[in-house]
Amino acid sequence: MAEVIGAQLVVEALRHEGIDTVYVLPGDPVGSIVNNAAAMGMRVISVRHEQVATMAAQAHSYLTRTCGVAIAASGPAHSNTITGMANAWANCWPVLVIAGSSENRRRNMGDFQEAPQVESSAPFCKWAYMVEGPRRIPQSINTAVRYAMSGRPGAVYVDLPAEIINAPIEREDVYFPAAVGEPARSQGDPRAIEEALRVLRSAERPLMIIGKGTAWSRAEDELQEFVDKVQIPFLTSPMGMGMVRPDHPMCVAGARSQALRNADVVLLIGARFNWIFHFGLPPRFARGIKVIQIDITAEEIGRNVPATVGIVGDAKMVLAQLNEAWKDNPVKHGETDWIRSLREYVLKNQTTIQPMLDSDAVPMGYYRMHREVRDYISEETIVVADGASTMDISRQVVYSYKPRHRIDAGIYGCVGTGVPFAIAAQVCFPDKPVICLNGDWAFGFNGMDIETACRFKLPVVFMIYQNGNIDKWVRTWVDHAENPNDFIPAMRYEKMMEAFGGHGEYVTRPEEIRPALERSFNSGKASLINAVMDPGAARRPQEFGWLDRQGRMRY
Ligand code: ADP
Repeated sequence: MAEVIGAQLVVEALRHEGIDTVYVLPGDPVGSIVNNAAAMGMRVISVRHEQVATMAAQAHSYLTRTCGVAIAASGPAHSNTITGMANAWANCWPVLVIAGSSENRRRNMGDFQEAPQVESSAPFCKWAYMVEGPRRIPQSINTAVRYAMSGRPGAVYVDLPAEIINAPIEREDVYFPAAVGEPARSQGDPRAIEEALRVLRSAERPLMIIGKGTAWSRAEDELQEFVDKVQIPFLTSPMGMGMVRPDHPMCVAGARSQALRNADVVLLIGARFNWIFHFGLPPRFARGIKVIQIDITAEEIGRNVPATVGIVGDAKMVLAQLNEAWKDNPVKHGETDWIRSLREYVLKNQTTIQPMLDSDAVPMGYYRMHREVRDYISEETIVVADGASTMDISRQVVYSYKPRHRIDAGIYGCVGTGVPFAIAAQVCFPDKPVICLNGDWAFGFNGMDIETACRFKLPVVFMIYQNGNIDKWVRTWVDHAENPNDFIPAMRYEKMMEAFGGHGEYVTRPEEIRPALERSFNSGKASLINAVMDPGAARRPQEFGWLDRQGRMRY
């Protein structure tokens, strides 16, 4: 009879579910899980903060369509994972967080790092559970993975009291349920598919909005076919970018405001009418629009705007159904006045930012800096963006041409995601270039983990847009001699990277960026380009300003 301990069962259960990589911060009582993971041949990426582990694990999920796993210790280690779980919850990404916790026999006695871990995770999790005994470990991990991956994906939490991690048990007393595998995919109601084509045919100014639910679904082939068939203008959410190439003749990303405001029928696929798409309401959208909504979550249909046609189903399946139904009911808009008018706006909008893209000014502004990046990187590059202005403006300048080649903060508006996302991107795709565009404020959150990139020989190129403050619109808010929103100017972040054994660059002029990018990517090492820029640099004037200083939307 062979005896194992709970820690071994955790690793065996993860492997049984097909998981080969874990992001961890070892500490009591999960040390033996981490050691067993390494001993049993898993890829163990140990990081410097549990938030990083949780964020990296969810990016791993999104990029590989598997369940990313983060392992943390108890108490504060666990609570450090909560922002990561919240980010996964908001963005509908799977992640399994496993944390140790204090022994059951000392609960409510003031035990070391005792905390309400299940309770505090629960609001952000599809399933949060404390395992009752070592025998239940495989069953619990199996259930957690099923919840994380199925339907609308999300975070799950498995809590392991210390005595369970270390408890011995006879292996033959343990049952491993069948692995979850690829989640089942649902089709849409065939009547709704027909109806969608009918409404699309009746549209004068149709618009397709493509979100990252479509990217999660791996629906790119079906989507491309559908766009080519119906030929209606489309735009994407930030992470939907690349699902269809942005240089496709029907892409109107460059006329976003005009397309949203004037569309009469909106086909929303794996995207939500939340703040990113202005709730689908006037003044950003026309009154009385018709909406064809495709989402895997029934409760999402009709949120904020009633759906004329609601199709509950997996985007890949539903788009295949639409393509099939199209054969009997071909709808094709093609070269209409509508697309022509939007193209004119694309050109006009492009003209307004061109001077900023071309500007040789020193100190530099965002647009020229992004242009240098855009002109250097290849279509294979995974672009990670983090920090309000750096991220927002990068969407207008640094395009992604392939599915899931851009990851950023998404719905939760969570700064600090850049470094962990970039680490995960390079772990998942060792042969792809990965560039991480960071605002200096955003970099501060998880910047220490560039050491992780060095330690694991992950040649990510981090570029810091150093404006030396927490964004200009906040910066002018407090009128003091010592502004609380200002950092020490021209800090030498690249020396951090050099200290960890990576490659560092310091640039202040636009013409220095490209050579710095070349040296960084050619170094084969984790690199940091520290680009000092104009402290007052801003985005182009917006027709609809975003938040005012009291945090209210301006429209
Ligand atoms: P974005 O930020 O790209 O606009 P959101 O996170 O707001 O995207 O919305 C993504 C939507 O995609 C969610 O409503 C989610 O339920 C949905 N979704 C997730 N997976 C799928 C899928 N496989 N098929 C269709 N919809 C999906």
